[in-house]
Amino acid sequence: MEKTSLNETNLTWSLVEEGLFEYPLANDQLSALLASHCKNCGKTFFPKRPLCPFCFEKGEMEEIKLDRRGIIYACTVIHRNSPTGIIAPYAYGYVDIPVNKVRVFGLFTGGDPLSFVPGQEVELVVDPIKVDHQGKQIIGYRFKPLS
Ligand SMILES: [Zn+2]
Repeated sequence: MEKTSLNETNLTWSLVEEGLFEYPLANDQLSALLASHCKNCGKTFFPKRPLCPFCFEKGEMEEIKLDRRGIIYACTVIHRNSPTGIIAPYAYGYVDIPVNKVRVFGLFTGGDPLSFVPGQEVELVVDPIKVDHQGKQIIGYRFKPLS
């Protein structure tokens, strides 16, 4: 698929939500989720938040890129199409990112939805998750089996 640059007005894609990850990427660049890291207590939050819920104004938040590898903490399979246009069956759940000590929520891809299990190693993918009614690709993040 053709990808247009940000300064063109007629984008053929849009993001599922702003600020979750970097997009578009340079050719050899790997995508990463963007998180907030509190310099005071060291906790990490995804999605990003302006204030640390533990330190409040004592904490100073910095943006960090999360490691791309995670381990499934919990997952489930949905057998109905989502109201936002994701076709069933699909799997989603929580993924622990050991390097950053943070748990993130996400969709799973790259395998039978029923095949995902807790403890499984997964890796981040940023790609089109659906096409909207105008034919525009919606770019989101998901996790695929690491193998
Ligand atoms: Zn904090």
